[in-house]
Amino acid sequence: TNFTDLGLSPKLLTAITAAGYDKPTPIQARAIPLIIEGRDLMGLAQTGTGKTAAFGLPLINRLMSQTEARKSKSVKALILAPTRELVNQIAANLSTYVSGSHLKVVTVVGGTSINTQIKRLAGGTDILVATPGRLIDLVDRRALFLNSATYLVLDEADQMLDLGFIHALRKIAPLLGTPRQTLLFSATMPKQMNELSAAYLTNPVRIQV
Ligand code: AMP
Repeated sequence: TNFTDLGLSPKLLTAITAAGYDKPTPIQARAIPLIIEGRDLMGLAQTGTGKTAAFGLPLINRLMSQTEARKSKSVKALILAPTRELVNQIAANLSTYVSGSHLKVVTVVGGTSINTQIKRLAGGTDILVATPGRLIDLVDRRALFLNSATYLVLDEADQMLDLGFIHALRKIAPLLGTPRQTLLFSATMPKQMNELSAAYLTNPVRIQV
């Protein structure tokens, strides 16, 4: 499989080539067409398999093609990850894929100035990458509205299965826009993952790499 077979736009293919990617990884080859179709997806995949591009590229592909999205400054995709490091790593990857487009990637993590984050959010965000705790804090302060976000990604979900995360998700998910496409990635599949899937995914495809 080549990137040209996956249904991505020419503009995004240029960004992929610029990133130095030659061929899609197995999870990318399987997940990208399904995500473009609009399916919810549950992926069992380790870090290093290219899962960030697997969920990021089809999402960016969609957002690039939505002309009305250009005018709106609100969050269209929310990506939740367990740690500050992972959030920054995801955002760094996504930033390379959106280069040359109008799309903005913003991170929200604990341990940094919340006022600085509030100011940055006011400048507009298309793709928000966040840790759950700080996200809740911003939502509670009404510095952030999620009703335009119709894509939700839960990355390394097994690392987020503590009570704080379950609580945060229960609070955040109803605030998102509908219909919503939800993608869940995890390195392991403890049984709580099925509960998460049942609660937040609709008729998901499961893939394993
Ligand atoms: P991830 O599993 O998403 O953390 O990605 C691991 C690393 O692989 C990152 O540095 C990506 O930039 C890189 N990567 C992702 N997809 C590809 C690809 N198709 N070809 C080469 N490198 C890739």
